[in-house]
Amino acid sequence: MKQRDLNTFKKLLNERRQELMTEAVGTMHGMGMVEDTRESFPDPTDRASLEGNRNLTLRIRDRERKLITKIDEALGRIEDGTYGKCEECEQDIGIERLRARPVTTLCIDCKSLQEAQERKIRTS
Ligand SMILES: [Zn+2]
Repeated sequence: MKQRDLNTFKKLLNERRQELMTEAVGTMHGMGMVEDTRESFPDPTDRASLEGNRNLTLRIRDRERKLITKIDEALGRIEDGTYGKCEECEQDIGIERLRARPVTTLCIDCKSLQEAQERKIRTS
């Protein structure tokens, strides 16, 4: 991959990472507010819906954390020069596919194959 393309993806990944970090901080503030509201509204119905919100928030944070890890791995691959190569067949993944999914590690052929195998495992 050209250095110029690598720089584009590096910028894109860093921006996405920054966005996720900002969201994660926002989510934590949201959780703080949940604690405060619970004090002022001791009604059990309100409390139940607040608990529900909190579980949802925790799930979102887990997903954000996993995505941040994937972004870090992708940035690592840019540094060591393996970014944009499929980890299965070592062919170029392709700029178009990387634009759509910058954290991917598989070319479209290997990804399709993997998905087909996963479907087979699930149905057998
Ligand atoms: Zn491949």
